[in-house]
Amino acid sequence: MALNILAALTLFSSLLLSSISITSTAYGSSRPDEMRFIQIGAKNKIERTIISNLGVSIEAVKSDSVWAIANSKQILKLQNDGYKVLGNFDLKTARGGHENSFGFPPEDSRFHTYQQLLAALQELQVKNSDISSLQSIGNSIEGRDLWALHINSTASDLTSGSSNKPGAIFMGNHHAREHVSLEIPLMLAQYLLGHRRDPRISRMLDTRDLWIIPMVNPDGAEYDVATNEYRYWRKNRRKNKDGTFGVDLNRNYGFEWGTGGSDTETSSDVYMGTEPFSEPETQAIRDFVEKHLNTKILLSFHTFSELILYPWGHSYDKISKSDDQRTFEKMAQTMAKWNHYTPEQASDLYIASGDTTDWAYGKHGIFAFTFELSPSDMMDGGFYPGEKIIDRVFRDNIQPCLYMIDLADNPYRVLDKPSFNSQRKSWLKNYVQPHAPESIFWEPINPKL
Ligand SMILES: [Zn+2]
Repeated sequence: MALNILAALTLFSSLLLSSISITSTAYGSSRPDEMRFIQIGAKNKIERTIISNLGVSIEAVKSDSVWAIANSKQILKLQNDGYKVLGNFDLKTARGGHENSFGFPPEDSRFHTYQQLLAALQELQVKNSDISSLQSIGNSIEGRDLWALHINSTASDLTSGSSNKPGAIFMGNHHAREHVSLEIPLMLAQYLLGHRRDPRISRMLDTRDLWIIPMVNPDGAEYDVATNEYRYWRKNRRKNKDGTFGVDLNRNYGFEWGTGGSDTETSSDVYMGTEPFSEPETQAIRDFVEKHLNTKILLSFHTFSELILYPWGHSYDKISKSDDQRTFEKMAQTMAKWNHYTPEQASDLYIASGDTTDWAYGKHGIFAFTFELSPSDMMDGGFYPGEKIIDRVFRDNIQPCLYMIDLADNPYRVLDKPSFNSQRKSWLKNYVQPHAPESIFWEPINPKL
């Protein structure tokens, strides 16, 4: 057994060495607040929830274990509670040869820093100024603007920043180290505007109110790449009263806040903050959504694990409105046909409260999803899979995004009801190529980016 674990760890380390380097050191030598990458034995959602309730941030779920980030104090507690720690690694990800460099390393230079994202959004907006505008929807705790690209073909809607058309919001990068989750919403904006003459896309752009907010946590993302090592940073950069940094923005939303899977311990990776919406970043998203209640669809991109998640996260219960439950399930299953991710209720993994989607659905009835993008596994690079993955992730997810935009007028269309059939007829006429299979009505379109 010990040998098997050793062999697995060796394989794990060597696989990761190609893109990042994680070195294993003996547990016990670490400082109590030092964050570590660990693999812990856990067989079901109950065991996983106990781990998550200790303030440990679970990053990947396997049938018999989870990969997680925890401090040494939490690891000790887990061991005292009888959990087996199968692997324990430094978070050092030395890139080598880039002393005092800032931003992404050359081999990952396609990823966008905050300034590069702003430049890309500005370029896109200038090229498509008749149907888009760029707005700051608030500031991060360090004062960076939170940028939102508005896409709408009606000039007065662009000017006012509000619309009566059915709305969809795409967001990324709540968690700093999840850099792929910024690239996909940016590419979605580039794709939509780049294909604006395609009849199917132009019909969408004419009839929908679209908002793309690729970087919800710019301070954290910048911090993650500010030295010559990836820092595995997750939270924002709030300076907590005790001198620690950061609140987990995806545990800070104000619906059933603090009811499980988040922590009051400031040093925890899933620290929930002092109160719901204590952070300027989550306040900005809240205020933005509440000013745009034409929004019917919301998608928050995260990495990693290849999952399509829908509410609830704070409870094992199903949604009480059965039509809504069925709509979430049907949409998730349909989208999974394209990206081959696993569709499931968020709490099937473990309980987590205070996230974007529970709030957006629980408070405003928005059909809100979280995608945990590629890779599927730590073995494939985890948070730092390298820029080569970006195109594939985008191709996997363009159809689900178009499907969501399409459904923004009435997500219940996915339910097989008598009234649905008549609605569906016009829907099919508008959106479907006659020969498209029923279940997958958006045919692949080659992204030309
Ligand atoms: Zn995340």
